[in-house]
Amino acid sequence: MVRAIFPGSFDPIHHGHIDIARRAARLFDEVVVAVYDRPLKHLFFSPEERISLVRQSFEGEPKIKVLGYQGLTVDLCHQIDAQVIVRGLRVFSDFESEFRMALTNQHLAADIEVIAFITAEAHTFLSSSTVREVASLGGNISGMVPAHVAKALTQKFSELDGKHLVVPMTTIRD
Ligand code: ADP
Repeated sequence: MVRAIFPGSFDPIHHGHIDIARRAARLFDEVVVAVYDRPLKHLFFSPEERISLVRQSFEGEPKIKVLGYQGLTVDLCHQIDAQVIVRGLRVFSDFESEFRMALTNQHLAADIEVIAFITAEAHTFLSSSTVREVASLGGNISGMVPAHVAKALTQKFSELDGKHLVVPMTTIRD
């Protein structure tokens, strides 16, 4: 049995992430989407909210499981007996950071393989920060995220009621 983990911040999950998880589930026996609790970046949704949005995205897909985690991704791999880390690659600028992260993980745990999937062409522009920015400005995000994520974004922005209008510049890197 080959178990893969697909780690990330998923703040929030979007169709680019969902596509990578589903394609990985065609190759591996099980894919665990692992939601990192506190990445070194500003977070919009809490760990619990991000996990819940990811869970709802894969309801009825038994090969895809969802977990929250903290600490090193390779430690999680060892804990749950996963042999593979899946990542997604969008543009050339992703390559440098993914390459560095893959080599670091290789250095920490030579028994874990990192496999990167090339994004589907339709999702090349898509990132969580773009989704947040478009949503904060009232734009239509229905083609970028599932309906439950769009609803959670609308609700969060209405709760913030204009208090969170410092939105980072659009970038296809997070
Ligand atoms: P992280 O903080 O680990 O970069 P993200 O949630 O931003 O977490 O991304 C998780 C993974 O999904 C990363 O490998 C990232 O490159 C990939 N990813 C993000 N957006 C896309 C997309 N549009 N298409 C394919 N892969 C993507």
